[in-house]
Amino acid sequence: MASAVHGPRLVLLGRQGAGKGTQAAKLVVHLGVQHLSTGAILRQEVAAGTELGLHVQELMEAGDLVPDEIVLEVVAHQLADPDVQRRGFLLDGFPRTQRQAAALLQLLGSSGLDAAINLEVPAAVVRRRLLSRRVCSRCDTPTTARHREHTVYCQICGGTAVRRPDDTPDAIERRLATYEEQTGPLLGFFRDKRLLVDVDSLGSPDEVFDRLMRELQPILWGTGEAVS
Ligand code: ADP
Ligand code: ZN
Repeated sequence: MASAVHGPRLVLLGRQGAGKGTQAAKLVVHLGVQHLSTGAILRQEVAAGTELGLHVQELMEAGDLVPDEIVLEVVAHQLADPDVQRRGFLLDGFPRTQRQAAALLQLLGSSGLDAAINLEVPAAVVRRRLLSRRVCSRCDTPTTARHREHTVYCQICGGTAVRRPDDTPDAIERRLATYEEQTGPLLGFFRDKRLLVDVDSLGSPDEVFDRLMRELQPILWGTGEAVS
């Protein structure tokens, strides 16, 4: 399905808890793109205790955004990888501010992005999801297990499912407020550039993925000489 020249180049938008991590895992399998989650990359830096990790840990745990310059450097570094350019990419959790969005389009050039996918879920629903979710401590994939009383292992890498330190009521409210203020306006930004793809994201992960692929296929087939 990916073009002979380069793979799909996608941005994934949506509130915290809208299902970005879950849909990203499916898109990676289906499209062969590189998943670039700024949150996951930053969490790895924190876990490894790097200088960058130590610098951003407090902000992340409080639910505040990391400064644009730091995130931009991380993303520019990832996008410069020739393998990422060839396979295509799925940016998850980036861009989140006007400045990041403008910098991304400048970095990629005017036709460097195929679509910005907007997973739509009401705020009340994501609040409930975030308070009960578990994600893999190693690869960040959300778990689908319903039974919380036992240790749950990741279906992708076998890591243990844990609560994220920023999935506390206070940090959740801060993150959702920041989303409304800073990231929500980017929907209009991408819509004006005819890149926005809205996807109703209520329902099972498979239902959402079907809806998403129905929207995405014509867009991806329309770019370059697509091969399947
Ligand atoms: P969520 O979307 O649920 O908040 P993420 O894993 O995408 O989770 O991000 C976790 C944290 O990492 C954010 O709260 C923020 O501190 C930091 N972060 C991730 N991406 C960005 C970004 N694009 N700009 C600024 N901070 C970011
Ligand atoms: Zn995992």
